Amino acid sequence: MAQVIPTIDQVKAEAMEIFRKEFGDDPDICVFAPGRVNLIGEHTDYNEGFVLPMALPMVTIIVGKVNGNKNCTIVSTSKSITTTSKLEFDVSDRSKIAPGEPKWANYVKGCIAYFPADVPGFNAVIVSTVPMGSGLSSSAALEVATYTFLEALTGVECKDPRDKALVCQKAEHEFANVPCGIMDQFISVMGKQGHALLLDCRDLSVTQIPMDGIDDYVFLITNSNSPHKLSSSAFRERRDACFEAAKMLGKKSLREVTLDDLEVLKKQGASEIILKRVGHVINENSRTLAATAAFQAGDYIKVGELMNESHDSLRDNYEVSSNELDTLVNTARKIPGVLGSRLTGAGFGGCTITFLKKDSVDLVIAAINKSYSGTASFYIASPSVGTGKLDCK
Ligand code: ADP
Ligand code: MG
Repeated sequence: MAQVIPTIDQVKAEAMEIFRKEFGDDPDICVFAPGRVNLIGEHTDYNEGFVLPMALPMVTIIVGKVNGNKNCTIVSTSKSITTTSKLEFDVSDRSKIAPGEPKWANYVKGCIAYFPADVPGFNAVIVSTVPMGSGLSSSAALEVATYTFLEALTGVECKDPRDKALVCQKAEHEFANVPCGIMDQFISVMGKQGHALLLDCRDLSVTQIPMDGIDDYVFLITNSNSPHKLSSSAFRERRDACFEAAKMLGKKSLREVTLDDLEVLKKQGASEIILKRVGHVINENSRTLAATAAFQAGDYIKVGELMNESHDSLRDNYEVSSNELDTLVNTARKIPGVLGSRLTGAGFGGCTITFLKKDSVDLVIAAINKSYSGTASFYIASPSVGTGKLDCK
């Protein structure tokens, strides 16, 4: 069975209850921000390419209240945090806020440090239903929820949602030391119910793509529960190879590069590995635009084919798949009614996404439970809304 995802109201009620127990008071602010799944367009974002994510019904909720002193006290209930889940620090001089331990707090600290206004002391509780470290972007959900919380706390609201996403990305770069692209923060800010978001990571323009026509089909997320290691050297290596190739060609990014340029790179002595990485990025950009057009035309067979090609390229050219992810994808693809299946997120573990007939969901889950050596979890991904405020009743 796919997991039952708690509703936002249920998560909110839990967070409010914990706040009352922790602080002996009612919170008067409640905000949420969703995780996301990327339908196609992997490892294209930091190359100024195209991505097609959608916001998930899994969310991070923050409830809280001004506390009248210069410190903030924040409690996260996430069971995945092995270090201190409660922390307190001075927010009166934000230039003194620095990354440190516990690591999870760095995402929050970065957002506070880069928020464009002074922040009063506050108490807060964080509760999340986004699985952590699985490629569904619990990190962006935490950053964006923090930013929306600070907006509610200070009354200083960001006019352009792009700026909000960029501050959150900066927090992840500078405080969590993860050189992520802009996709996760964008979709967590701009997600729209029933839509995926085509994002051009070069000019940051966005197009909402309606998904309500998919009727008999759904997206099934399968979490391999083998956590990805995003800040690992492997991720940096991929990124650096792309930047190096663009530089060799005298281009700002791989977005400016075409398949013809592969010959030029070859002549310049680029390694086989660099050629494979660049080939992936160029073709993945084309696939993302083709998949968007196929969604709009209702050609779901084509969408599935493009998703399969995307995975195969991530496995063979970008080399970011794993045995676990390949097993999940290969098992799903054998089941009738499955149009396509691929790894989603940065890879090296994490989740797969499968586009399939609703009727085939149980068959896929049964087949994976039988053939997968680990323990997988399953979620039906319905395109959901981006960050927002909730009332505190
Ligand atoms: P992903 O974004 O795919 O879930 P990351 O490695 O980018 O994986 O981010 C996961 C990290 O984000 C966690 O290890 C933790 O430090 C932090 N994090 C995310 N959500 C929470 C939360 N609710 N409470 C505390 N820390 C969180
Ligand atoms: Mg992340």
